[in-house]
Amino acid sequence: MPEPLEIVILGGGTAGWMTAAALASLLPPTGWRVRLVESEEIGIVGVGEATFPEIKYFNDAIGIDEAEMMRATNAGFKLGIEFVDWGFKGSRYIHPFGVHGPAHMEHLFHHQWVRALRAGWKSEIGEFSFAAQAARNCRFQFPETVRRSINSAYTYAYHFDASLYGAFLRCIAARRGAQRTEGKVKHVVQDSETGDIRSLLLESGETVAGDLFIDCSGFRSLLLGDTLGVGWEDWSKWLVCDRAFAVPSERDELSPYTRSTAMEAGWRWRIPLQHRTGNGYVFSSSFISEDQAAGSLIQGLHTKTLAEPRMLKFRSGRRVAAWANNCVAMGLAGGFLEPLESTSIYLVQIAIMQLVPLLPEKRADPRLRDEFNRLMDLQYERIRDFLILHYKLTTRDDSEIWRYCAAMDVPESLTRKIDLFRHDGIIEKYKDGLFTPTSWLSVLIGQGLIPENYSPLADAVSEEELIYQLDKFRENIRDRVDETLPHDRFVDRYCAADSAA
Ligand SMILES: Cc1cc2nc3c(=O)[nH]c(=O)nc-3n(C[C@H](O)[C@H](O)[C@H](O)COP(=O)(O)OP(=O)(O)OC[C@H]3O[C@@H](n4cnc5c(N)ncnc54)[C@H](O)[C@@H]3O)c2cc1C
Repeated sequence: MPEPLEIVILGGGTAGWMTAAALASLLPPTGWRVRLVESEEIGIVGVGEATFPEIKYFNDAIGIDEAEMMRATNAGFKLGIEFVDWGFKGSRYIHPFGVHGPAHMEHLFHHQWVRALRAGWKSEIGEFSFAAQAARNCRFQFPETVRRSINSAYTYAYHFDASLYGAFLRCIAARRGAQRTEGKVKHVVQDSETGDIRSLLLESGETVAGDLFIDCSGFRSLLLGDTLGVGWEDWSKWLVCDRAFAVPSERDELSPYTRSTAMEAGWRWRIPLQHRTGNGYVFSSSFISEDQAAGSLIQGLHTKTLAEPRMLKFRSGRRVAAWANNCVAMGLAGGFLEPLESTSIYLVQIAIMQLVPLLPEKRADPRLRDEFNRLMDLQYERIRDFLILHYKLTTRDDSEIWRYCAAMDVPESLTRKIDLFRHDGIIEKYKDGLFTPTSWLSVLIGQGLIPENYSPLADAVSEEELIYQLDKFRENIRDRVDETLPHDRFVDRYCAADSAA
């Protein structure tokens, strides 16, 4: 019998426990051992409360029961993100997790909408999205799966308590054979020739040896960054926010969407959970003092705070390679993109799913490592561009941060996308990457960019007929939304948490 592959995960935050639970669930029954080292003294970031719909695939893949997970984490459903004051003060749009217009017309619908708009017919594109309208009205139902209908072409994510999600995964990982070691790493032992990591020496004197090390040590990046010296690619000239204050407050409306409100030096989030509301102010320390930011956050709360605001410092960017030697970084140890579209947990999940097919091998083929890094680079860069888009397309000029963002140069890959849309209404498509054309469309138009031209295919019917069809479709959505349950009632029936009363 060959020796099993020893996989050592350093870190027990969301990234560490997602990795441990996934490996313990997805790898074959024999041939590997998973051990996770974490230090309670150091603690975790634990503020990732909003997710992206892809998390459902992750949970399904490792056999998590949705209602059970939601009960355990005080979760609610999330149909999208509302952006308030982003394009200009007073503007408001939803980036929904679903298409605009009829499902089979996704490629053409916005061209038709632009044509109607040019003809003087006023409407908002969000009125043609079931997910956006259900969110706006605080309603929820599961997408219909049987037939193609207005309420089939969307999906959903969750708002949950990230620390409880980690604890939930920890139980799964333990049940499926992952071992946990409490302890603080004091020294990392490397092979003198190859530089590969051989073991972690804990403060207790214990040594944890391994073949493959997964660095989930958070912003410290103890293995990939500190030990192996993998450099940092900084993106803070485009994503200028570098701090956040987070504070929970008493529960208010359990809306099925995250709210992001643009502020004087960044933006604030509101994430409703069953037992409380998560709030935070993400800001740039170049444009506002920490005291002012904390004051501004507290001032805008609708319910009583449940703790003191907690400050987190970060930089947007990534390690130049997510995998080096025998070490792969997941989560904050590999990079961070500010939380505007709640993408960090997704980045952990995609890294895990890309890593699993490459295991278990005692010594990884460098070609596999390069392919993993290439795919992760694409994921990061595409999310980066999508986030920058929100800032770049603002027309706000009431404070320094917005004037800076509107004037800044952006990556060439994003300039190309914006120009293509501005001129022709075309959205560049890609296979590897989180955001679909629907997501791009909602932010491009939501931020106020209406294409100069539309596809001639949109001229197939007369103007009167087109407007009649659009009107009817919009009415249909309203009717369907009216038939659905209020989100809080839906949650009560499906997954009420014991502690949420
Ligand atoms: C302001 C803010 C808001 C966010 N919002 C969202 C969101 O809405 N959605 C989303 O998807 N993501 C969000 N994130 C990101 C999310 O919080 C993280 O991706 C997630 O928590 C994963 O963190 P992690 O596990 O990589 O690191 P951490 O939580 O920092 O965990 C690090 C682990 O490493 C261990 N460790 C470190 N050093 C040592 C050592 N020497 N010895 C032993 N153990 C060690 C620690 O004990 C800990 O267990 C947000 C992040 C920030 C900063």
